[in-house]
Amino acid sequence: MADFILDDQGVVGPCRLCGQRNRVAYERMSGEATCGKCRKPLPPPDAPMAVEAKFGYLRLLANAGGPVLAAYLKPQDDPSDRLLAELKALAAIDAGKILIVTVDAARFADLVKMYEADPQPMLVLHIGGHETKLRQGYLPSAEVRRWLVACLAPPAS
Ligand SMILES: [Zn+2]
Repeated sequence: MADFILDDQGVVGPCRLCGQRNRVAYERMSGEATCGKCRKPLPPPDAPMAVEAKFGYLRLLANAGGPVLAAYLKPQDDPSDRLLAELKALAAIDAGKILIVTVDAARFADLVKMYEADPQPMLVLHIGGHETKLRQGYLPSAEVRRWLVACLAPPAS
């Protein structure tokens, strides 16, 4: 199982200090969350979060506040595996700046249908809960970052 998962109610992941698994409810994601065991503040996730529940994913998009990068990955697929490795590197560096989630494209085929595209694999950037941008195929982490920066840059005035 992935370190961080999205279930029906919130983000579940380990406390980096004591290892205790905590759930942070989607509605409380923008506030300060503390570990239920050691009572220290929980830092933002530093790894991609695996979607385990469709409604959890939709609630995350509605509550995240900041940008959410969703990777639609195919099981037993080499480009998907390599893209996941790149996203792990990116998530460790950009913790707190962007939320990165992974979606099993075979298990959540109805989520894939929202985009009318076939993941090869596929990256979908959600900005402000409504705007989406899409990239297909494997990309190295540096290219993913360049794309994110371009998408999130304020429009030139
Ligand atoms: Zn703790």
